[in-house]
Amino acid sequence: MKWSWKIARIADIDFFVHATFFILILWIGLSYWQIEGTWAAVINGVGFILVLFACVVAHEFGHAMMARRYGIRTKHITLLPIGGVAMLERMPEDPKQEIAVALAGPAVNVVIAVALWLWLSASDTLVPAEQLNLTKGPFLERVMVINIILAVFNMLPAFPMDGGRVLRAALSIFMDRVRATRVAAGAGQVVALLFGFAGLTGGNPLLILIAVFVFVAANAESQDVAMRAVARSLLARDAMITAYEALTPEDSIATAAKTLIRTTQHEFPVIGQDGTLDGFVTRDALFAALAGEAPRARPVAQIMEPDIPRVALGGGLESVLDLLHKGAPAIAVCDREGHMLGYITRENVGELMVVRGR
Ligand SMILES: [Zn+2]
Repeated sequence: MKWSWKIARIADIDFFVHATFFILILWIGLSYWQIEGTWAAVINGVGFILVLFACVVAHEFGHAMMARRYGIRTKHITLLPIGGVAMLERMPEDPKQEIAVALAGPAVNVVIAVALWLWLSASDTLVPAEQLNLTKGPFLERVMVINIILAVFNMLPAFPMDGGRVLRAALSIFMDRVRATRVAAGAGQVVALLFGFAGLTGGNPLLILIAVFVFVAANAESQDVAMRAVARSLLARDAMITAYEALTPEDSIATAAKTLIRTTQHEFPVIGQDGTLDGFVTRDALFAALAGEAPRARPVAQIMEPDIPRVALGGGLESVLDLLHKGAPAIAVCDREGHMLGYITRENVGELMVVRGR
């Protein structure tokens, strides 16, 4: 994600914090300063928010650790002002595994809450809930309450929240996964609208932000699952682009720029004299090269991306989607000798989905 900084690497997972998170912390610190006017209040307020987000991160690591048990890696965990995101390489498609991964996050918050409750009871410092709010009351008890809220909030049966995943997985036992996702995503969008309404009437910008996030994410997941279902029945040959212009490794950047204007392509295969693929030049790489100081007579071989995944004509489209998901600009469809027959981009897979009418 853009504007995210890597803070640490925990249990082999990169941990990022989004820049806007620091703005939130700054804003909270300033609010406490304006209301209370003491450093103690600022430290208390900011400290509580930091502990709250530490619990959010622990929640995300709960998902990641459970996914690891099923052999699924987590690319990174990112902390945003609206919560954490654990970017799993994929979600398990076995409903039972998906339920386990989805429950592992809220389970972490339940464990934290129970542990704090035991500690507070044992030390006889538990105060009645009426005397608590976000800013008043014993620190640890407030942390306990926030963990209960986190667990309950995340278990709302609204996609893409954890409860929505559980709902989808449970539904997919009775219906196909695409329909199950549509139902769960629909529930998510209803909840998003309710959040949005509550946020607008209550004047809570954070709630509006969460509403937008839930709405967009529910939609994206629904589309992604539908795409996968179609992809499963198709082969690389069904999706590949066969009418395109290619470059040679000796072509200059200036030539590539002309080709970019002349065609509607955003990525250009670089093909050697023997017809084998050397790599791809992307529009972004080309723009970067044109913006730089270096001469435009340089060969495109210097700016091309050489590591392009290759599949055979009969390769499944679903594995192509996985490769594209990992960030490759294009997937080359090659014969056994390495000659390129065509290539596949995310954009034309999208077109194929529309044509096939999902
Ligand atoms: Zn979660």
